[in-house]
Amino acid sequence: MEIGTITLFPEMFAALDYGIPRIAQAKNCLQLHYWNPRDYADDKHRTVDDTPYGGGPGMVMLAKPLQQAIAAGRKKLPKAKVIYLSPQGKRLTHKGIEQLRDAEQLILLCGRYEGVDERLITSEVDAEYSLGDFVLSGAELPAMVLIDAIARLLPNVLGDAQSAADDSFATGLLDWPHYTKPASIAGQNVPSVLLSGNHANIKRWRRQQALGRTYLRRPDLLANQALSKADQALLDEFLQQHVDVPKR
Ligand code: SAM
Repeated sequence: MEIGTITLFPEMFAALDYGIPRIAQAKNCLQLHYWNPRDYADDKHRTVDDTPYGGGPGMVMLAKPLQQAIAAGRKKLPKAKVIYLSPQGKRLTHKGIEQLRDAEQLILLCGRYEGVDERLITSEVDAEYSLGDFVLSGAELPAMVLIDAIARLLPNVLGDAQSAADDSFATGLLDWPHYTKPASIAGQNVPSVLLSGNHANIKRWRRQQALGRTYLRRPDLLANQALSKADQALLDEFLQQHVDVPKR
């Protein structure tokens, strides 16, 4: 997959030279490109912003350098949709990341200051995505978050693809709790089933924990799915062990 980013700060993306995004690039599963709107400014100060019409605080990113940077991006990545990272966009979820992962090419547009000239969004942007209901000073971090989340879902990137398949949200549930050595820390013991070597019981326990945790922490995720009889029985048993919790 190829992802191009339009950003005033391409240096920030060095963070993607670590961990899974680094592996994805080393395996050639992910290629990253950058275009800096400042390179398309037409004055000697390389201006990329100006004051807002109507007055008020802050600066607005000029349409023209952005348009030319996007045109350069489209030349290299002709199949790419242009995604503007914006607090006003659709909230990013696992499903949204999966859909973006399925694209061969993407162009991410990073705003700064008060944002970008609205006419640029109207004429160039295919979709807007938000990281959450808060405002950041720029879209570089959301763009990196998006690229990281996509990278770990690309085929052949993770050592064991099952690990992403079991992660929170991938199955519609939160992940089960994880433990590693030692078996006891300050009186807190690893659940005995995990030491039993009985794989069927371990699988059952993990499923039950995932259902129970989702019920306790994110009931909204369960509200939209019909549980199988077996899952409902696991959840009921979990709830009996947590007597304070109201039944679903
Ligand atoms: N005035 C804008 C508003 O209130 O909608 C916020 C501008 S913000 C300071 C600058 C840039 O950061 C935005 O243009 C956008 O690209 C990016 N940004 C800020 N918050 C974001 C979020 N929650 N998700 C994605 N991008 C965000």
